[in-house]
Amino acid sequence: MFKINENYLELQDNYLFSTIAKKVDEYKRKNPEKEIIKMGIGDVTRPIVPCIIDAMHKAVDEMKNESTFRGYGPEQGYDFLREKIAQFDYKKRNIDISPDEIFVSDGSKCDVANILDILGNENKVAITDPVYPVYLDTNVMIGAAGKYSKETGMYENTVYVPIKAENNFVPELPKEKVDIIYLCLPNNPTGTVLNKVELKKWVDYAKENKLLILFDSAYERYITEKDIPHSIYEIEDAKEVAIEFRSFSKTAGFTGIRCAYTVVPKELKALTKENKEVGLNKLWNRRMSTKFNGVSYITQRAAESVYSEEGQKQIEENIAYYMENAKIIREGLNKAGYVTYGGVNAPYIWLKVPEGLTSWEFFDKLLEEKQIVGTPGAGFGPSGEGYFRLTAFGTRENTINAMKRMSN
Ligand code: PLP
Repeated sequence: MFKINENYLELQDNYLFSTIAKKVDEYKRKNPEKEIIKMGIGDVTRPIVPCIIDAMHKAVDEMKNESTFRGYGPEQGYDFLREKIAQFDYKKRNIDISPDEIFVSDGSKCDVANILDILGNENKVAITDPVYPVYLDTNVMIGAAGKYSKETGMYENTVYVPIKAENNFVPELPKEKVDIIYLCLPNNPTGTVLNKVELKKWVDYAKENKLLILFDSAYERYITEKDIPHSIYEIEDAKEVAIEFRSFSKTAGFTGIRCAYTVVPKELKALTKENKEVGLNKLWNRRMSTKFNGVSYITQRAAESVYSEEGQKQIEENIAYYMENAKIIREGLNKAGYVTYGGVNAPYIWLKVPEGLTSWEFFDKLLEEKQIVGTPGAGFGPSGEGYFRLTAFGTRENTINAMKRMSN
């Protein structure tokens, strides 16, 4: 009989979004006349900007001529895109990242999962809690997370680093030995950030303790305040300790088009069991060449156009639109008496659930009384209990209407 990867059996069914959908459907069935405003799911709603559409059309047309047709491209991404990324996302911020340290892919979700291919399952992994569930589940899948405890709601071999109001959403350095930590900044789901001083503590700690930081900056473009790092490589020596994941999904509305990239600096080294030094850049390059055949030419031309003057202007208009929504939500909730976090450097608002209610009870109340759908914090991990996530990715009209309902 063939075998399966039994680690998959250790995964907890993620009922979060399916339970939300079920509850919403049931409510709709009983109250067909009520209009529901959805502020739960983290997907963009603004259409792709004209400059990107033009670049895609142009790339499509190139496919019809023998002289400009493209077949397989480089697995790591076309030079034209890798060079633009190095120039605009790094050099402009005085960070020296070379194009061959940049690997273009079809999404950060896959990249954060696939990186475990080269890291293996013998690392002690830390996640912040609450967390983007992909980090945890992919460690469960390779058998690195340990057994699930129903009692604690945690995996026994995983270190949970709480981020909550009590510590100002600043994760404390772990007291026990950890090999890898995932940091998502600006954070999903809390919408909070770390400043340079706070992030530097993690980089220094990582260097001292030979820890690898997996830094997910999917929401980097939403940062509005000064002194908040857009890239971990703004911190000195970070190239020796961190891999960075970036995505065009939330930056340019590519959640459906699919394009992202991962930076694996050449300075980043690991030690084998025999104490031999191995460069991670080389390993990731090998992994990508073997298991991936590159992102489509059309998509990469679309991503390239994001860096044009027109592209930058146009995507910034969309980001500003979402961030205005975030402001409306924050101010609306504060006026209605809620304590909120995030929403200043991220499209997520993390609100404190009123005393005496769980995050699911608050979900039900909001749906019943205001016909607003959000995401219960408990769905993102034990420390998410008592909180609730609203997203700023809706339309302006719905956002304003939702806040009117909250103020009544
Ligand atoms: N990382 C974080 C923190 C996210 O919230 C998301 C999407 O919601 C992703 C990665 C996924 O990005 P992509 O669309 O590039 O797969």
